[in-house]
Amino acid sequence: MAPFILIVILVIVGVLTYLYSTSTRKFYVCQECGERMRTEHGSASHCNTCGASLNGPID
Ligand SMILES: [Zn+2]
Repeated sequence: MAPFILIVILVIVGVLTYLYSTSTRKFYVCQECGERMRTEHGSASHCNTCGASLNGPID
């Protein structure tokens, strides 16, 4: 019985970690060159490809 409970706890922790990383992820599209960028944490202010300033995350 104990190993089963341990597996359930690990799955719950994994799902919560996944949901947290998804909620902090931001998606950008450069207005100048159309480059798509994704950030895991924080925010991007400039395009990695052409250096143009970004307006903000899409979602
Ligand atoms: Zn760009």
